[in-house]
Amino acid sequence: MKRKITDLSVRFSENFILNMIDCTPDSPIYETAMQELKELEDRAYSLIRPRAVAAWGEIDREASSDGIPEGTKALFTIATLGKEISEWSSCLFREGDYLGGMLVNAMADEALFQVDTAVQQAVIEMSRSMNMGVKQRVEAPNDIEMVSQRLAWEVTEAKEEIGVGIRSSYMLDPLKTNCVIYLLDRFCSEYRTAHNCKNCKAVHCKRRMAE
Ligand code: SF4
Repeated sequence: MKRKITDLSVRFSENFILNMIDCTPDSPIYETAMQELKELEDRAYSLIRPRAVAAWGEIDREASSDGIPEGTKALFTIATLGKEISEWSSCLFREGDYLGGMLVNAMADEALFQVDTAVQQAVIEMSRSMNMGVKQRVEAPNDIEMVSQRLAWEVTEAKEEIGVGIRSSYMLDPLKTNCVIYLLDRFCSEYRTAHNCKNCKAVHCKRRMAE
């Protein structure tokens, strides 16, 4: 079973984007940053090309560990924004527009988060149709070996489906691409697709939930 998801749209909250770069209303550059954000927003929307693919498979020996044995059933997902948005952000940094580069990068991160939420919904629908629950959401390198990204890339056929490549380090290309693996269980009646902040090393994440 495989599903390609292309009907994805993103919408930014300007205040939240500014908050992501630690620019709060009491900051002396808040008005300047808000003005620049408004100027960059339309182009960001046009350069973000969100797409994702989810496919059913099994954890292989290389990606397995004590907690995630070989043969565990899973839905492998890869979501990307395409390369244009990160190229633009890098270009702004190169030209010395650090505020612009940070704002575009924050918009891309927020877009990827929204795409992740849409993918979670697709995963719930797919697992429900297979009469399986989602027992755990795992991401490399915190919860599972990095080599799992290659497995996910192969299972989803991400190159052909959504134009995502992979490097020898198992990093996905383009930069703004996420790989999430959802472990399935026939005896689990829940769909635990949400972010698990407990093991996450993104200490500055503005969406971190209280533990
Ligand atoms: S801190 Fe939580 S919300 Fe932020 S990326 Fe990590 S798991 Fe996701």
